[in-house]
Amino acid sequence: MEIHEQLYLGDVVEMRKQHPCGSYQWEIVRVGADIGLVCLTCKRRVLLPRRQFARQAKKFIKRGAQAQGDQAPTTG
Ligand SMILES: [Zn+2]
Repeated sequence: MEIHEQLYLGDVVEMRKQHPCGSYQWEIVRVGADIGLVCLTCKRRVLLPRRQFARQAKKFIKRGAQAQGDQAPTTG
């Protein structure tokens, strides 16, 4: 399965491959032609081309504030 959803800053994703530090979880810090990710455990920063990111990402752990805003429930 590949992730083809809209990406937002602050999203936390679980990757298929384990980082050398032992973590699978990364936070999205840049959304462009390349996706910027910071390892939540060792804080190492990497850039992945979108296509590569989509292949390596497994699922969303947490959606960023912007994503939550898009899905805000209507009240009243
Ligand atoms: Zn790491």
